[in-house]
Amino acid sequence: MSSVRQPPVALVTGGSRGIGRGICLALAQSGYAVAVNYAGNEAAAQETERLLQALPGSPPTLRCQADVGQSADRERLVETVLAQWGRIDVLVNNAGITSPGRRDILEASEDGWDQVLAINLKGPFFLTQRVAREMIRLQNERQVEVGRQNIINISSLSAYAPATNRGDYCISKAGMRMMTQLWALRLADHGIRVYEVCPGVIETDMTAAAKEKYTPLIEAGLSPIRRWGTAEDVGKTVAALVSGTFPFSTGDVINVDGGFHIRKFPST
Ligand code: NAP
Repeated sequence: MSSVRQPPVALVTGGSRGIGRGICLALAQSGYAVAVNYAGNEAAAQETERLLQALPGSPPTLRCQADVGQSADRERLVETVLAQWGRIDVLVNNAGITSPGRRDILEASEDGWDQVLAINLKGPFFLTQRVAREMIRLQNERQVEVGRQNIINISSLSAYAPATNRGDYCISKAGMRMMTQLWALRLADHGIRVYEVCPGVIETDMTAAAKEKYTPLIEAGLSPIRRWGTAEDVGKTVAALVSGTFPFSTGDVINVDGGFHIRKFPST
């Protein structure tokens, strides 16, 4: 071991706002140095960093702009984190966008498809490939302990609940489900565990425009737990998964959705 006292390192894509920020905070509270990736909102990324540094012990942080949909940006992102800390123990593929314009699938455009699939699926797949190679290299060089590395993919209830006005988004998240299983299978022999965290309706900028529509639905029982989910709910789940509490589990889907996924039989 080269640096026993060095904290483990987490890279969180889309860590500047919303769910990603909640994950950054939860991981920092669990003792991780956190690399906060963002696409373009520098002020939001700075605010996440400020919140992290205000935590007890001022955990080390790093802010890194990179479009996860772009190959060169992903490479620069990983290189930046490695140059700073020399390792990545946890990758959270959280960055994502909704369907541009939320157009009916009879009207949806190829441009929208390409954009959503690049950011929500292709980016996470190849970022995982890049980081996994690095995790294996670090193991081979005995710089990290085997069994402490995790990859978490943030999917959505849209992975299994189709909405015909965001087909590209649903398909990207359904693909992420298979991607999680593929990487869980491929990396099991290396002791790297891979999980899918599947949020329900979470209060963030992404859902802000639909707030008035969703609130009465939630109150009427859209999810058995009748409240909006929070970024903190998702962050706590990710922190629990990477803590080593589930050593004989990989490839699992963990729903953070207030029970939305429970299929109900109508009462007669
Ligand atoms: P959000 O509030 O819109 O935040 C999106 C985050 O992703 C921001 O940090 C943004 O960076 C970043 N991002 C967007 N495109 C990027 C790109 N090309 N490269 C790098 N970063 C990029 O979204 P959210 O609600 O927190 O959602 C986070 C994840 O949870 C997404 O994958 C989403 O699909 C999933 N999810 C959300 C909900 C929900 O109800 N909110 C439910 C299920 C799943 P900037 O700040 O720089 O723009």
